[in-house]
Amino acid sequence: MSSSSFNSVLPSKLNMQEKDVSSHGFLPRFQHFATQAIHAGQEPEQWASKAVVPPISLSTTFKQEAPGQHSGFEYSRSGNPTRNCLEKAVAVLDGAKYSLAFASGLAATVTITHLLKAGDQIISMDDVYGGTNRYFRQVAAEFGLKISFVDCSKSKLLEAAITPETKLVWIETPTNPILKMIDIEACAQIVHKHGDIILVVDNTFMSAYFQRPLALGADICMYSATKYMNVAFGFVVLGHSDVVMGLVSLNSETLHSRLRFLQNSLGAVPSPIDCYLCNRGLKTLQVRMEKHFENGMAVAQFLESHPLVEKVIYPGLPSHPQHELAKRQCTGCPGMISFYIKGSLHHAETFLKSLKLFTLAESLGGYESLAELPAIMTHSSVPKSDREVLGIRDTLIRLSVGLEDKQDLMDDLDQALKAAHPTNASHN
Ligand SMILES: *Cc1c(COP(=O)(O)O)cnc(C)c1O
Repeated sequence: MSSSSFNSVLPSKLNMQEKDVSSHGFLPRFQHFATQAIHAGQEPEQWASKAVVPPISLSTTFKQEAPGQHSGFEYSRSGNPTRNCLEKAVAVLDGAKYSLAFASGLAATVTITHLLKAGDQIISMDDVYGGTNRYFRQVAAEFGLKISFVDCSKSKLLEAAITPETKLVWIETPTNPILKMIDIEACAQIVHKHGDIILVVDNTFMSAYFQRPLALGADICMYSATKYMNVAFGFVVLGHSDVVMGLVSLNSETLHSRLRFLQNSLGAVPSPIDCYLCNRGLKTLQVRMEKHFENGMAVAQFLESHPLVEKVIYPGLPSHPQHELAKRQCTGCPGMISFYIKGSLHHAETFLKSLKLFTLAESLGGYESLAELPAIMTHSSVPKSDREVLGIRDTLIRLSVGLEDKQDLMDDLDQALKAAHPTNASHN
């Protein structure tokens, strides 16, 4: 075989093999994602300076040519060039017409909830993010909204919970920390059969790279951009996970103009510096998510085969009860893994204290690996009886697998598991 024909055959074969191995049977990746993440909304022509990297516009106010005649910006709460630039990029990455940025994920949740009025009902997934649960239960309910927590992974339960007052259905998939997958398309079909109900998907865990809720029928896609979406890869000055922010994407013009009004009226907007950092983080979202997937899969398989681990929950593993749904709905899996260590609370605590590379901390999605104990940390505000029903036992450990070398991560988990079980470890 001549070198030229060899070259013409080899690359396509290699590409195919590479794709098959890294996709693990998930949907093909969204086309043009990396290109859009780098270029959409970033045109240098929009700035007088033709800056290639979007400038941070710190000015709180903008000069008008005549009273009421302005460049599109008047006051930085109602609109800011750096925020605009981020919002345009996020809309494209979500396959959406519009996107809005907020001061935090919860600020986005609060603003979305203001689409409702007293007497309206919200149906929320029972296993939602703790802060969302607390806001619905302890704040929104005080303002006359009715809140029902339902296991929306069971279509029949969701349908049965819908009443004429239902105006918002809030789901999160996968859930945290049990990583239960919810069929977004099935939820959308049920919800939209019952009239004017808004279906919101909290897409924080999957990010725009692995899941597009709007294409599956959701009305609003929401993020805590504090997690995967914004992590400014290699940002030296501030270091690690460094921005608290929320993002919302949608296609409905009516909902968008109302949310735009609420963004300005409630005022929970992010700072231009945070917008700059989040925009910068998006540029490497694809590279980071691919590596989180690779490391997450390796760590999940390692834990599943470990004698000191009782059970691993990872949607990328065939043992996950909704593995088929995950493959049908997503293009891959992030680095979030939950597992039950054998033994008791004591073993879980010793394991966590023995980790050297994984940091014992809340939050997730950063390039640094984290480990935590939901029952005592992130989910301690969930009543113990509810925790038990959900499966948040004292031996459940949640990992956010970062971008370090996967062998180093597995070695660290192995030594900490053995430290937690010194007698058993000696037999291995
Ligand atoms: C962190 C988080 C939130 C809340 O976002 P903040 O930016 O912390 O306000 C909402 N949903 C999920 C799934 C989260 O992980």
